Parts: sequence; C-alpha cells; structure tokens
Amino acid sequence: MENQKNDGSGRKFDVLDKWLKQTLHLDSNQKTQQTASTNKQANLNSSSNSNANKQVYHHKSVQNQNFSKKSQYGSTHHNKSGASQKYDHSYGQSKNKNWGRKSERDNKKNSGSKQNNGNFTGGDRWNRGHFNQRHKFQSALRRATQAGQNPLISNPKGVLRIVPIGGLDEVGKNTMVMEYEDSIFLIDLGFQFPEADMLGVDYVIPDITYLQNRINKVKGIVITHGHLDHIGAIPYLLPKLGFPPIYAGKLAMGLVKKQLEEHGLLNQVDLRTLNFTETLHFGMMQVSFFRVTHSIPDACGLFIETPAGNILHTGDFKIDLSPAGAQLPPDFLRIVSFSQKKITIMMSDSTNATKPGFTISEKKIGITLNKIIKDATSRIIIASFSSQIARVQQIIDAAVKYHKKIYLSGRSLINNVAMAREIGYLKFPQGMIIDIRKSKKHPHDNAIILTTGSQGEPVSALSIMALNEHSQVKINKGDTVILSSSPIPGNEMAVIRVINNLVRLGAKVIHNQIMDVHASGHGQQEDLKLMFSLVKPKYFVPIHGEYYMRKTHGDLMVDDLNHPADKMLMIDNGDILEMKNNEVKISSEKTENKYILIDGMGRGDIGSQVMMDRQILAENGVIVLICKIDRVTKILHSTVDVETRGFIYMNESEEILSGIKVRAQAALGVFIKQKSNGINPEELKLYLRKIIDQFVLSKIDRQPLIIPMIVVI
Ligand SMILES: [Zn+2]
Repeated sequence: MENQKNDGSGRKFDVLDKWLKQTLHLDSNQKTQQTASTNKQANLNSSSNSNANKQVYHHKSVQNQNFSKKSQYGSTHHNKSGASQKYDHSYGQSKNKNWGRKSERDNKKNSGSKQNNGNFTGGDRWNRGHFNQRHKFQSALRRATQAGQNPLISNPKGVLRIVPIGGLDEVGKNTMVMEYEDSIFLIDLGFQFPEADMLGVDYVIPDITYLQNRINKVKGIVITHGHLDHIGAIPYLLPKLGFPPIYAGKLAMGLVKKQLEEHGLLNQVDLRTLNFTETLHFGMMQVSFFRVTHSIPDACGLFIETPAGNILHTGDFKIDLSPAGAQLPPDFLRIVSFSQKKITIMMSDSTNATKPGFTISEKKIGITLNKIIKDATSRIIIASFSSQIARVQQIIDAAVKYHKKIYLSGRSLINNVAMAREIGYLKFPQGMIIDIRKSKKHPHDNAIILTTGSQGEPVSALSIMALNEHSQVKINKGDTVILSSSPIPGNEMAVIRVINNLVRLGAKVIHNQIMDVHASGHGQQEDLKLMFSLVKPKYFVPIHGEYYMRKTHGDLMVDDLNHPADKMLMIDNGDILEMKNNEVKISSEKTENKYILIDGMGRGDIGSQVMMDRQILAENGVIVLICKIDRVTKILHSTVDVETRGFIYMNESEEILSGIKVRAQAALGVFIKQKSNGINPEELKLYLRKIIDQFVLSKIDRQPLIIPMIVVI
C-alpha cells in the first residue's frame, strides 16, 4: 500500500510535527503509536481515536497536508476513524447520496491467475479443451428436447440470483451479477461520469461488495458492447476480481484491450472474442447471444438458460433496420427462437423510454450528413462520439464521393479509427484520413475535420477550437460545425458554451435541433414495444436508466401491451432478484451500493472523507490557525495568526476574523495552563478546532474547514 504523496509544505510539517512531539514530551504510549506506523495520517488517527471525545471534531477538518494535494491511492485511511460516521450520516441525509467508502484492496487476488471455468464453446482456441464437456451437454440437451423436456428446467431446486450493482439509478456504470450455485458471471462492468457535485472526481465505478466473499465463484465477464458505461470499470475492478476471462465482440474487445493497455494490465488478462454464435457455460448457466443495433458496432443481447428459468437481457439497443457501415439489423430470428424457449425474466434498456415513436435510423443521418458535405463551400468540422464507428464510415463515404480529405483531431478518435480499420470495421483508401497532429498543412477549405468534444469537455479539441486556441485549426467565418451528437444529461451547459464560442467566431453551427445530424443508439417507445412483443416474458424488469425512465418503460408495457402490473418489477442497484422454478421475487436482502469514486488515473478510489472535505471547502472555505513555537525556548507564543480562503467577504468579516483570533488565543492560553507538564500538539489542534468551530457556527451558521498548524519560528 502506497503512502500518501505529499507536497513540499506537507513534508515540512511532517518534520515539524515529529520534532514537536519529541520536544513537547509525548507520553510513551503515543510514542509507540508514532513509531508503529509509517503512515502519518493513520498515526494521527490512532492517537486521536484514543480519546473518544476528540473524535467529534477530528473528522470535520482535513489534516493540513491533505487538502493541498491530489488524492492518491491509499490516501483515505483517516476515514477509517469511527468519528467519520457522524458526518457520513448527516451528509447522506442532506444530499440523499451514499458516498463510497474505500473498499479494501485485496492484493491477494491480484496474482493474475486465470480461471477457465467459463467453458467457451465457440470454435475458438479456448474451445478445444472443453469440447467433450460441451458435446456431452449438447447431446443431453438434444435428447431431452426431443423428449419434450429441457434438462436445465427439470431440476428446479436452485435459486438464480440477479444482482444489479450499477446501471439502475443512473445512465452509467452498467453492471449485473448473475449467480447460480457456485458460479457467477458479470454482464458488463461499466463506469459513470461524475455528477456536478462530485468535485474533482473523474469516474464512478460499481461497488463490488457483493462479490467480495464470492470472488472464487466469478467465472467470467460478458460484455454487451464497447461503450464506457459498459466496459469503463474493467481496468479498475478486474484485478480485484482475480482476472476472470472477459468475453466480448470484436470491436468491444478492441476497446477493452486499449483500456487494459493504458493501465498496464494487458499481460495479465484472459480475453476471448465472441462472434455471437457461441454458447458459454458458467456452471449451470448457459449463455447465448443475439445481435442488436446500437450506436456502436458489435452490440449484443444475452439469452441465459438456467435451471431456475430463462432470462433475456437486451443490452443497449434500438431497432435499426438500416444500420450503417458493417452493421446488420437486429437478429430477430434468434430472438424469436429464444423466446420460444420461454423467457421468465426480460431485462430491457430504458434510456429512451420516455420518447415516443421509433428511434431514427443511422442511415437517415448519413443522408443528412451527405447533403451537408455535398453543399459545403467551406470547411466542415464534425464533432461526434469517438466510438460511433458507423457514423465515421458514413462521413468517410461522403468525403470520398465529394473528393474531400478528412483530418482527425482528438486522441480517442484517432485511436478508435486506427483500431476499427485494423479489425476491418472501417474502410477507406490510403491517404484519405490524416492525423491533424502529423499534418504539415493546416486543413483548407476542402477539408472535413472530424473531432472529439461533442459533449463540451473543456480539454477536448472542439472546445479548444471554440476558444480559438487550437494550434492547427482557427475557426474562420463561414466554417460549418456539426454537432453530430446529443448532450449526455449534465453536459448541456458545457455544450451551449462551446456553441456560443463557435458562433462568436463566425461559424455556422448545426446540431440535432436544427437537422437530423444525430441518431440515438437507444430504442424509443415503439422500438421497446417491438422488442417486448418478440420476447413476451413472464416478468419484465426495465434496466439501464434513471428511475423515471425505467418506470415509464415498465408502465408502457403494462398499459399498452397488457403485461401484468404485478409482474413488472422495479429494482434498484443493490437489490437482489431471486428466481426459482420460473417464479421471481425481490429478496429482502440488499447488497451495499455506494459511490466508489475514481480520481486521476484511478490508482485508488476516493473515500467519502476526501469527498466531504472537498464539498466543505467548496461551500464554506477554509480557516488556517497558525500557532508559533519558539525554536530556542520551546515555548508556545500566545498569539495566533488567522488566514482564510473562500470563507467570508462581507462587512462583518473583520469583526469575525478578529473574533476568531481572540478566541483562538484565549483557547491557546487556557490549554497551555492546563497542560503545564507537556503539550500534545494533536490535542491542541483538536481543542482549537472545537472552539473555533463553535464560534463560527454561532456567528454565521457555517462550518468551514479549520486547520490549526503549529510552526517553529
Ligand atoms: Zn451503449
């Protein structure tokens, strides 16, 4: 476990603190604690925890070295203090949110051992070792089917558990645990982009507490498609899961590989590419696939046969009868063949369930883009999702037709185009596409610039162009900018800012509200009804989406398609669905479902304490109390200096600040008098915090971070 990284001032304080402890004659018990731990933060905690009445204040302030740095792996030990519970509780109430606690890093599981329990039966190299088993299984199945019975159903003793640990309270971090007896497999393992109040957080990943005592059962991870909200958490959680095999279609696998490579994990993983005709076995669970259409190629749904009943999971989908590029329409025949085996539970994508009608076809977008490209008399800049390979192909086709060159801008786009071409999913003539970074010439009038940044991300190429700070693309009057995307909820304001800036520079901006330049990858109401009608499940469970989207989806099937209301089940992340003998109930048991927050490159998850500190800093500012101690006499000065940041700017601020100073000095005096035979600096800090916290609260009803420091002069 890596210790906290510290900035210069933190280290300096470390030395001072050690020196203070020695010179102020700490008692022997505290000295032992000090030497026993190499982690300063843990050390501070252990001494403060030794006195219950100090804990109350401990958690309200960050230690001084902790707020000036970026949180790193292992930096949240101080949150182990029981004292933080008080804050967790109140925070949870006020924000109605459950910030993630730091989950234990189980290094034991990181041995890289590969489990091969998920029998792969798809004509691939892993297949051979399992051929006999598959053969036996399939002949038994055939014999039984001929005799009119399914052997999987004929033994109804077991209970299948379905545990969503993401994707049901949000659009993001889609992850579902499927468990039958001694086997578990996961459907997707995605992350979520942070919400606006998650300060400095890069991603949110699923809470895998449910799997912690079941790691040995985890036989595989099956990926429905390559979007980050379905694969993004893999590099963070795969080591904790003991590197089970990952099964994914060709493109999704390419994207998974890229991620694992960036995290330096590629040599430890077991990746098995699917073509969706295979059947996998995870213990008694048998998984087959069917092709669906979505905004990324190679998307699939799952048909899962178990002794407890059958499940159909759609993955993300829309019904696109004329998808673009190398994609084919959904495999209706296969879906129907599965539904003939009787589906006990159908789980279906709800992201667009509030929108009426059918989702527009990707081909239609190609027609609009083709027309814009044909008519353009100046440069065109198109921003889209970097995984929208079919759209990229349509733009390339139009560019070829009208003799235009394409310049690529944005790392993820450049990577994805290269990868998609390599696996044959993008086709274009040599020299057609130019990496803008490697181009000596700036894109001229006849160019199409394909870029990332359709979500208004501040560091993306499009945002930089909109600020006129891009080294190679200066927006000219008359340039056409197409936002071939729609803002993900939460990004609307950022997108508007980018549009404003582009228009200010003289560009003409086309977005989805003006022309059909974007088609969603998620089915709208008619798509959803069509899929439901093909499957005709006994129980319906709307998944993927915010609660209101899922409820609308469920109600739609009940109201319009006469699905029994008591067999439409609304479940949330952490709920456990149990299926036995084709009957389903929501278990009274629940698993933990906290926000696990990833900061930076994700070496560690941020604990709730760091998150709360950031929140307090953002909302109430910080007060630093500086006490001075004489280097020679070792005597504490009776004056205290007060510094604040982001705290108050108002008429009374002078009065409050001098009040803080007076109270801090008085408190210091009292403390010194009480402790005539040796001062514990930690006790002093807690004492000062308590006094000033009460004072500020009573005066202006705010609780800023209070950081007492003791410096040697
Ligand atoms: Zn998706």
